[in-house]
Amino acid sequence: MSFPRKLVLLGATGSIGGNSLRVIRRHPDKLKLIGISAFQNGEKLGSIAREFGVKKIHLSQTPSNIPELPNGTEFTSGAEALLDLASWDEADMVLVAVVGAAGLPPTLAALEAGKDVVLANKESLVVGGSLVMETANRTGARILPADSEHNAVFQCIQGQPQKSLDSLALTASGGPFRNLPLEELSKVTPETALKHPNWIMGPKITVDSATMANKGLELIEAKWLFDLPPEKLHVLIHPPSLVHAIVKFKDGCCLAQMSPPSMTFALQNAMLYPERHTGVDEGLDLSASLDLSFSPPDMERYPCLKLAIQVLRDDGSAPLVFNASNEVAVEAFLANRIGFESISSIIEHSLNLFEHRSFSTLDDLLYLDEEARLLAKQAIVKFA
Ligand code: NDP
Ligand code: MG
Repeated sequence: MSFPRKLVLLGATGSIGGNSLRVIRRHPDKLKLIGISAFQNGEKLGSIAREFGVKKIHLSQTPSNIPELPNGTEFTSGAEALLDLASWDEADMVLVAVVGAAGLPPTLAALEAGKDVVLANKESLVVGGSLVMETANRTGARILPADSEHNAVFQCIQGQPQKSLDSLALTASGGPFRNLPLEELSKVTPETALKHPNWIMGPKITVDSATMANKGLELIEAKWLFDLPPEKLHVLIHPPSLVHAIVKFKDGCCLAQMSPPSMTFALQNAMLYPERHTGVDEGLDLSASLDLSFSPPDMERYPCLKLAIQVLRDDGSAPLVFNASNEVAVEAFLANRIGFESISSIIEHSLNLFEHRSFSTLDDLLYLDEEARLLAKQAIVKFA
């Protein structure tokens, strides 16, 4: 695909949205922002529209006041119009930075329309991996991974045939409670869980990093993106977050990707792929000492990761139930309705009680997703 690329950014007001805008500002000759979306933050969306002169803006929730917009900007709202924006003829590339399973329908719409998709939203692959991959394969649309670990794998496997891959490890910082005595996990509050040691991210993924549900979601994401069986997908705790993934090849050699913990590296790599240009943030100083320590995770400390590894083997509804119950539980934890340790209990409870079945269409999936959320909401009362 040639440059400049006309880009639609879904979830422009969030943490990934903000880092994507930093990359776009750095490369105005390569990337033209033409469409943006958010859930309800019309004010911030309006200010992005004015700065970049975008042509279309979309809010999922209908606002009471339409934000002030540049002349000629089209404003839409509602679920259907988000799909229109994701599949807009004028766009070359769609960056999906929406949080949660809500990212799936626009991801599918963009792929169906043959767009290159820069995918930050991991939940879409977790809940609808087979639909997403089938759509991309059928239309020839490319998925460019922007989650830092998956982008790292993507970089390491360039020019390597799929059959040369042996296994891979995604790294994790271990989150803010890596060294907390286990008996103190029950006292963890949203304020302490939202203080990630290395990364500045949106609230949902920050809590997911503390429970390591995030790494579980990422294992499922990796299964779909790189077509490796569950036993070939590993997690390593690497506290400084400098190495993002390690790929082992059949000959026993490993390649790893390294950069400081900022999402601009992965986002720029995906948005400008296959070109490399000066980035937004400074890369590593190779004259300084580097901490390259790695260790396997303690599953007693991270029960959400343990559950995700069980779910990884299931191609039916289990990943969907894992994701839906995690989304519901994290929201309840952030609202101080349940304790930190109840997040894993609610996921486990939902996985055990759900009437699991397979699905083949988006409508079936959305129906099951709704059912799983209802079950998890009932469990909130039980585990409050
Ligand atoms: P944020 O919560 O910071 O931002 C979410 C964005 O999505 C906002 O623009 C929000 O709009 C919009 N949004 C929220 N709910 C909906 C909805 N139901 N429908 C449509 N749009 C919605 O999230 P992050 O930027 O942290 O994360 C985005 C995605 O990227 C997640 O899937 C996350 O797992 C993934 N990711 C994030 C990383 C990070 O560093 N943050 C790293 C790797 C992956 P509004 O502002 O109006 O609410
Ligand atoms: Mg990640």
